[in-house]
Amino acid sequence: MDRKELLKHVHIKQGDITREKTDAIVNAANPTLLGGGGVDGAIHRTAGPGLLEECRTLGGADHGEAKVTRGYNLPAKHVIHTPGPIYKNGYSGEKEVLTKSYYNSMLLCKENNLKSVSFPAISAGVYGYPKDEACSVAVDTVLNFMEQENYIIDVYFVLFDRDNYERYEKYIASLQIGNKNSI
Ligand code: ADP
Repeated sequence: MDRKELLKHVHIKQGDITREKTDAIVNAANPTLLGGGGVDGAIHRTAGPGLLEECRTLGGADHGEAKVTRGYNLPAKHVIHTPGPIYKNGYSGEKEVLTKSYYNSMLLCKENNLKSVSFPAISAGVYGYPKDEACSVAVDTVLNFMEQENYIIDVYFVLFDRDNYERYEKYIASLQIGNKNSI
């Protein structure tokens, strides 16, 4: 499918991902999958103790892996938990691992036949990934996945901060006019 057609299925929002009513929200987890700060803490607080109980059965996840649970008290039906990379210097495989986090999350969406998914800016908080690069990896990976797998899903990037929302807005606009390097 045409890239510009696929872009119509990529949406951005500013706000709190725990309020999303999509088929799944993605959690920027840590490898224990037992909760933490940032978006992870917010998701566990809203979902309630059932989420932690199910997460205890999963045995953790490596950076770049993804595992799915139910959504419990969240409006979303499922939570996809993926630990992104911890950013060191940019030469330690960070981009590959961040790509895997998005790719493996999309794969779970496909396997579960989901129609909509909401992503936070994985690794762009405490894990320290530079925000411009985290944005382009996120958008490029979901578009590549849809194209390669011939799978259409409505993808929402839910950005907590205004400046990150504007970053995604600008990057997506640059793809719409076919200038990938304008970020
Ligand atoms: P990581 O450890 O992967 O960096 P963080 O939770 O520290 O994860 O941050 C990831 C991103 O999620 C940051 O951009 C942060 O501003 C954002 N964030 C924090 N809380 C929420 C929330 N409730 N909804 C959406 N995004 C959030």
